[in-house]
Amino acid sequence: MALLETHGLTAFYGDFQALFGVDIALNEGETIAVIGANGAGKSTLLRSISGLIRNVPAHIRFDARDIGALTAPDVLQLGIAMVPEGRRLFPSLSVEENLLIGKYGRVGNGAWSLDTIYDLFPVLKDRRHHPGTALSGGQQQMVAIGRGLMSNPRVLLCDELSLGLAPVVVRDIYAAFPKIRATGASIVIIEQDIGQALKVSDRVYCMMEGRVTLTGTPETLSREDIHAAYFGAH
Ligand code: ATP
Repeated sequence: MALLETHGLTAFYGDFQALFGVDIALNEGETIAVIGANGAGKSTLLRSISGLIRNVPAHIRFDARDIGALTAPDVLQLGIAMVPEGRRLFPSLSVEENLLIGKYGRVGNGAWSLDTIYDLFPVLKDRRHHPGTALSGGQQQMVAIGRGLMSNPRVLLCDELSLGLAPVVVRDIYAAFPKIRATGASIVIIEQDIGQALKVSDRVYCMMEGRVTLTGTPETLSREDIHAAYFGAH
């Protein structure tokens, strides 16, 4: 059985329906990527899983338990942490203080502490007393990932890590992922950068207009199929 699953997941913003019966599955230790154009519903999928959107009965199972009615703090307590789009650091707090905020969702002991996060992203150790605003976009993204890891999550949900970052910075950030995976974490990555998504994931889901239009492994999906599932035409 998958560690995390959605079945026929729907989501609304007021009268506007953003998801139309989305099924995804994440196995223990696996990394999946969800790709799709702007507005496809990728962020809404993550917000639904993490309990930030609760407007219809949600069909979401985690570790053999129905979590579709839980609030965001309860979902975090169970071990699902989110790295939100746009990083959302507290600008007046230091790097270290921002990281420590992630500890509040902590369930027990695990791989992650300030020390192991500084090992993962050494530049953050040098800048640990700097305010969030003094960091580059890439460094802010590292803090956001570190903050998510501080709760020792079983599942890490990452929303558009590469947004607005230079390719070389994106590469540095994704270089950390093998180490994160080695701790046993299962990971969902939302990406608009298809090449990056294929590189980092075991399986890929493509979404368009609130539906999953294609799923497969990076090895088996052809560029043409991805293009069709992403844009709706060959
Ligand atoms: P993006 O890359 O732009 O974040 P996405 O695939 O993550 O795209 P979502 O953000 O999930 O897409 O948006 C799905 C649909 O829901 C879009 O049509 C979007 O306009 C709409 N939507 C998203 N957030 C809201 C909101 N807070 N209120 C109303 N509509 C929203």
